[in-house]
Amino acid sequence: MTTIPMVRANDVHKSYGVVPVLRGVSLEVRPGEVTCLIGPSGSGKSTFLRCLNHLEQIDAGRIEVGGRLMGYRESGGRLHELREREVLRQRAGIGMVFQHFDLFPHLTVLENLTLAPTVVGGVSREDAVLRGKRLLERVGLLQRGNAYPSQLSGGQQQRVAIARALAMEPSLMLFDEPTSALDPELVGEVLDVMRSLADSGMTMVVVTHEMGFAREVADTVVFMDGGVVVESGPPAQVLGDPQHPRTRAFLAQVR
Ligand code: ADP
Ligand code: MG
Repeated sequence: MTTIPMVRANDVHKSYGVVPVLRGVSLEVRPGEVTCLIGPSGSGKSTFLRCLNHLEQIDAGRIEVGGRLMGYRESGGRLHELREREVLRQRAGIGMVFQHFDLFPHLTVLENLTLAPTVVGGVSREDAVLRGKRLLERVGLLQRGNAYPSQLSGGQQQRVAIARALAMEPSLMLFDEPTSALDPELVGEVLDVMRSLADSGMTMVVVTHEMGFAREVADTVVFMDGGVVVESGPPAQVLGDPQHPRTRAFLAQVR
């Protein structure tokens, strides 16, 4: 039996103006697997993540999430752009967590979690609150539902951001350097939440410089440089026995 990959990116190209940023990126992520994307600054990792949920339009190639083409409908061998609301519906199935936990500052923690499900998800207020509380418990912040984001530490805010992304019950979670903006002592609590999310079977694509996390949690590590995938495989292989000189040079720097 073959399972449909949760993510299938095939020969993705993307330029900004005349500057090529992605030069033929292909990768597959199976349901329940964690892929860590590593690579130097400017290698195209964030751009690729943004392409996955169609925040960026790609120039060539194709991206499927859950077996569905992102941003397009195919008919008669041609691609037709989806309407904005159809793109939003696709995107609702994908949670994203950024480096800067951009919570809504004027809403309480619990309100941050109930907003999307009630406004775009068609969930009743009562159910959204129940769901929100369950998620807060999951990230260890059940007691802070009535706090405002500014009253929380950076690590707590990022845990709320993860809970908020989960509130729409996504089938895929994307993380873009979720711990890079945190004070070192707050990194662990966020990685712990991500680890337990991975253990629960969530499919995840994580851009990170946390090599310990990648080694322990990733099923696959993908090393990108200059807009291409240089090397990918299990962490023991890519991190423990890198084959490409560029991978070795990068790892020597981050260790
Ligand atoms: P990474 O996340 O690996 O650091 P990025 O995907 O952010 O890399 O960026 C890759 C390259 O694309 C960089 O050279 C960056 O300057 C450029 N870039 C990213 N976003 C834009 C944009 N919106 N407009 C123009 N250039 C961009
Ligand atoms: Mg980036």
